Amino acid sequence: MKNLCILGCTGSIGVSTLRVVAEFPEKFRVRSMTAGSNVRQLAEQVHAVKPERVAIADKDMIPEFKNLFGAGAWKGEVLGGVDGLVELAEEPQSDYVVSAIVGAAGLLPTLAALKKGKQVGIANKEPLVMAGPLMLAAAKHSGATILPIDSEHCAVFQSARCGETKEIRKIILTASGGPFRQASKEMMLNATKAEALKHPTWSMGAKITIDSATLMNKALEIIEAHFLFDVPYEAIEVWVHPQSIVHAMVEFTDSSMIAQLGLPDMRLPIQYALTWPERLDGGLPSLPLEKMSALTFEAPDRSRFPTLDFAYDAGRRGGTAPAVLNAANEQAVALFLEDKIRFCGIFDLVGKALAAHTVKQVENLETVLEADKWARQYVRSQMA
Ligand code: NDP
Repeated sequence: MKNLCILGCTGSIGVSTLRVVAEFPEKFRVRSMTAGSNVRQLAEQVHAVKPERVAIADKDMIPEFKNLFGAGAWKGEVLGGVDGLVELAEEPQSDYVVSAIVGAAGLLPTLAALKKGKQVGIANKEPLVMAGPLMLAAAKHSGATILPIDSEHCAVFQSARCGETKEIRKIILTASGGPFRQASKEMMLNATKAEALKHPTWSMGAKITIDSATLMNKALEIIEAHFLFDVPYEAIEVWVHPQSIVHAMVEFTDSSMIAQLGLPDMRLPIQYALTWPERLDGGLPSLPLEKMSALTFEAPDRSRFPTLDFAYDAGRRGGTAPAVLNAANEQAVALFLEDKIRFCGIFDLVGKALAAHTVKQVENLETVLEADKWARQYVRSQMA
């Protein structure tokens, strides 16, 4: 029986994780869960799952959360703020932490879990992009195990088991291409929020859906793959695969290419990350091959989607550059979702922030957090 802490349980990955866990009551027990501010959904989940402890990042929402329970309906403990999240991520009663907060907000609790030597299933890619070397060093030092949940990285993780790390020639990450795969530059310039939020194959939270429309999601995944699998940037390729069936491929030195296929449903990578090294029947449907008459692959259009080059550039510059890429993007996406900039403004702001940044070596967490803060302020200053 594994005791789980689910960071970000009210989000898209959090909800899918609870669905997976419900299939294996004899294997997993949810010890604790966290939310940002959506206390209504958290309360429904707590009623169903009955964890011992919860944490709500927005402390002001705690009274409202407590009001949602009648006397004696649930006797668990409620913590608040980042400290509360960190406390749940590192408490010894949990063996496995699912990292599913969106954005940089997941960095401190995920790092805390890694420092305590836990198994950590990581969907929350932004902390790895910001602070990959610090997170890997923490895992190495404590003996923590990182299990990738991001579907592409879970696919690489599975495919890579067919050979030695030194035998990997390249990693190929696939991208659906998002809603603007075939759009003109003009159409992208005037894209509305509703259009950008309409992902063709995956159902996900708002931030990653916009990242998929700009291909920033793939850009972040390039850096994530570099850190997780210790491969150089020149050995990581991106191909657009609109069907979202082949999640990633690994090419070995003998030219064999191993791929992982599956329906676009996050329950499969979540389940693999939770049950690894076992494979169990979680009731997921087989891939209907009769409906797959064509699996196609095309090179991404790097002039319409400059985000991929931002990632290669930031990754090769190293140090604080990836943290700046991530933070500038988070800030720009927030501005787009608030209707303050146009869709292509995201490319402009991220590109400018990267160009204006003087890279520093990442010696500690403070350096990363300073770079993150600098990039957010820089992007906001461009709006003045
Ligand atoms: P959602 O937006 O659906 O959920 C985000 C979760 O994080 C919610 O529980 C939310 O709480 C919580 N949260 C938001 N802000 C804060 C904060 N400041 N402090 C603490 N908690 C916070 O995101 P997704 O589930 O789509 O994505 C989660 C992560 O997984 C992202 O990093 C994404 O890139 C990655 N990922 C997602 C995939 C998907 O299919 N969705 C696929 C692969 C990776 P509340 O609801 O209370 O706001």
